[in-house]
Amino acid sequence: LFGDDSTPWEQDDAQTGLVASIVMSTGPEKSFDYLVPDELVGEILPGRRVYVPLGRSNRRVMAYCVAVERKEYGRRKLKYVLSALDQQTLLSSQMLQMTQWMAEYYLASWGQVLDAVIPAAVRGNAGTREVTLLSVPREVAVRIATIKLPEKQHHVLTTLAASSKPMTPGDLADKCRCTQAPITGLRKKKLIESEVRRVSHAHFDEIDIEREVAKTLNEAQSSALKTILAQVSDPQPKPILLHGVTGSGKTEVYIQAIEHVIDQGKQAIVLVPEISLTPQTKQRFASRFDRIAVLHSHMSDVERHWQWKRIASGIVNVVVGARSAVFAPTPQLGMIILDEEHDTSFKQDSMPRYHAREVAAKRAEYEKVPLILGTATPSLETYYRAQEGQYALIPMPHRIGNRPLPAVRTVDMRYDKTASFRGAISRQLYQSMKRTLELDGQIILLLNRRGHSTHIQCPACGHLVECPHCEIPLTHHITDGSTVCHYCDYRSSAPRVCPEPTCRYSGIRFSGIGTQKLEQEVKSKFGSYPIIRMDSDTMKKPGSHEAALERFRSQEVKILVGTQMIAKGLDFPNVTLVGVINADTALHFPDVRAGERTFQLITQVAGRTGRGDLGGEVLVQTLSPDHPAIEAATRHDYALFAERELPFRRDFQMTPFAHMVRIIARGPTQPAVELFMQQVSEELTRFAQEQGGDISQQGPAPAPIEKLRGNYRYHLLLHSFDRLLMRAAVLRCREKVAVPDDVLWIADVDPIDM
Ligand code: ADP
Ligand code: ZN
Repeated sequence: LFGDDSTPWEQDDAQTGLVASIVMSTGPEKSFDYLVPDELVGEILPGRRVYVPLGRSNRRVMAYCVAVERKEYGRRKLKYVLSALDQQTLLSSQMLQMTQWMAEYYLASWGQVLDAVIPAAVRGNAGTREVTLLSVPREVAVRIATIKLPEKQHHVLTTLAASSKPMTPGDLADKCRCTQAPITGLRKKKLIESEVRRVSHAHFDEIDIEREVAKTLNEAQSSALKTILAQVSDPQPKPILLHGVTGSGKTEVYIQAIEHVIDQGKQAIVLVPEISLTPQTKQRFASRFDRIAVLHSHMSDVERHWQWKRIASGIVNVVVGARSAVFAPTPQLGMIILDEEHDTSFKQDSMPRYHAREVAAKRAEYEKVPLILGTATPSLETYYRAQEGQYALIPMPHRIGNRPLPAVRTVDMRYDKTASFRGAISRQLYQSMKRTLELDGQIILLLNRRGHSTHIQCPACGHLVECPHCEIPLTHHITDGSTVCHYCDYRSSAPRVCPEPTCRYSGIRFSGIGTQKLEQEVKSKFGSYPIIRMDSDTMKKPGSHEAALERFRSQEVKILVGTQMIAKGLDFPNVTLVGVINADTALHFPDVRAGERTFQLITQVAGRTGRGDLGGEVLVQTLSPDHPAIEAATRHDYALFAERELPFRRDFQMTPFAHMVRIIARGPTQPAVELFMQQVSEELTRFAQEQGGDISQQGPAPAPIEKLRGNYRYHLLLHSFDRLLMRAAVLRCREKVAVPDDVLWIADVDPIDM
C-alpha cells in the first residue's frame, strides 16, 4: 500500500531537519528547538540573535541561538525561526560555553547571562543606522548598452554601473542631479538591486601618547615571565598566582607577557578594579601598546558599541577594563590578566551575581589560555588553589631595587587617653606627621567611614538617631548640616535637640568619626599644610578623582585623607607616612572574611609608602593590636596570616574548603519575610535529608543590615562540600516554596558580603 515496507509512524519518528536551539532572555529557563527554514541557512548561527514565534498566539520574541544542528527531532511539530537579528556572530563557541557554565554555577538562566555578557549598547546597535545601498547586477551591467530606457533612467543606470562602490539612493540622486523617481523606476524593473546594511556613524580617537621602552627585568621578574611563558606554550595552561608584594614590579611582568601574546597575533584582556581604572593605569598600558581599548563604566552607549566592534574585529591588541571586560569579544584570546585579584569589586552584586575571577578562570580554561592573578594579598580561595597545585605560584617577595617594605607599627588606642589628644589622631601619629611634614614628605591617612560624625545620640535618654527606612545610625555631614543614611541616602537636617518627644534634651551628642571630621582635625592641627579629602562625597563629579590625585602627585598637597578608595594602586614616591585611623572598622563586621579584609586593607594601604628612596613608615591605630590579622599585617607576613586563617575556615566549613550560598529575602512586613525564610530553611533541611547529603545552615536570621530602604531583610547562609547538592537544594526551594507577593528572594553563590 505505501510502496515500501516502513509504516507511516516510523517515517514520522524519523523526521530530521536543521534544528536551532533557542534561549530566551526572559521567561522559561530551558532551551527550545526551532527549525531553520532553507532561506535562512547560514544566517541562523550559534551566538546570534533571532526572532521566533512563541506560544499559541505566535507572538514574535527575540531570543539567542545557542546551537544549530542537523538532527532527528522525532514526531514533535517544530515551529520555524522567523528571521535573524544579527548579521554578525555575537558570541564565539567558547563564550557560549562560558555563559552556559555561568548560568549553571550562579543559578541564573542562560538568557539572563547572555543579556549581561553582551552589552545593551551592542544589542541596541547604538551609534549605527541602516542604509540602503544600490548597485547594478552583473548580468545587467554587461548588456547595459542594449537596454532601452528613458534618458534619465539610462543616465542613472550608467552612473551607478560606473561607480566602484554601491551608493545610497540619496548620493546617487545627487550625483545624477535627478529626483528619486528614475531610481525607483529602475528598482521596479529590477535593473538596480538594493541591500540594507548597518553602518556605524561613530568614531573615536585612538589613545595617542608617548611611547615608553621596556624595562630590563630583574631576576624575580625574569623568572616570573619564564613561568608565564611556559604556560602560554602549554596546550593545557594553568592559572598562575603572581603573589608579589606592592612595588615588586608585577605590572612590568604583565606587559612583557602581553608582548609575547601580541607577537603570536593574539589579544590580551587586563582586568583591574574599577577604582584603579585611572589615567595612570591607561597610560601605563597605552605607552607600551598600540591599539588598546579601555572599557570603563561611564562610556556612552555609542562608544561602548564602537569599542566592542573594534575588539570583535581583532584590531585591538589589549583590552583594559573593570569586571565586565572579562566578556570582551576578542577573536583570538591569548591571555587574561586580573590585577589585584583579591578586590571585591570583581564581584557583581546584581543578577547574574558572578565573580570576574571565577568567570575569567572558566574562560581561560575553555579558550586554553593562561590566566594571571596578580596581588600582594591573595584571596584565600586563590592562595589555597595555588597551595593545592591547581594554580602555578610565582612569589615575588621583594620590592624593585630591594627597597625595604615600610615598617608597620600598631598604636594601641586603648591606652591613648591623653586629654590633650582627644580626637582621632593619636600622639604617636601626630608626632610622625609633624616629622614627615618637616622633612617635606607626604602623608596618606585612611579612614573607612565618610561623613562627619557617625553617631548621633542623646546622652540623657540614650536615643540613637537612625534612618527610618534602614535602622542604621545616621551620619552627620557638616557641609550642608544634614544627616544622611549611607545605605539608602535618606537625608534630614541634623537635630538640635533629642527627637524623642518625652526627652527633648538640648545637649544631643555627635560622636564617632568620619573623613569629614578627620579632615577638620588635621586642619586644626596642621593648618598651614594643604590637605585633600577623597571619598565618595568629594569625588562625585567625573574627573574629580584624577584632579585630586594630580594635585597630590605634584606635591602641591601634602596630606591626603580618604576612604579605601585611596588604598589601592597609587604610586607616589614621596609618600613616607601612612596612617590607618581605625583598623577595627572592618574587623568587627559579622563576615567570614573580616580578618582577610583587614589584613588586605592594612597591607594595601601600607604599600602606598616607601616607594621612593625616602623609605616609609605606617602607623596602624587599633583597639585590637593582638588580633591575628592585624599582627600578621604589621609583619608583612601573608603566609602567617593564611596559616592561622585556613584551619579556622576548614573547621567551620567555609570558603575555600566548602561552597557557600547566601539566601536573602526582603519585604515590607517583617513576619512575612521571617516566615518565608523559615519555610525555605525547612525545605532545604528536608531536601538534604532525602538526598542523604550534608548542607549546613547558619540562620535564618535578620541580615546585618536588617532594614534597608523600607524592606526587612533576612538571610540564611548555606555551607556544603557538595556544590551540586546545594545547587539542587536551592532549585528545589524555587520550585516548592510559595513566595508571598511582596517578598523577593535571591540566592548569592560564593557571597562576599555577609
Ligand atoms: P606592583 O605592580 O608590583 O605594585 P609596579 O609594577 O608598580 O609594582 O612597579 C613598581 C615600580 O618599579 C614602578 O615605578 C615601576 O616603573 C618600577 N619598575 C618595575 N620594574 C622595574 C625594573 N625592572 N627596573 C626598574 N624599575 C622597575
Ligand atoms: Zn536608610
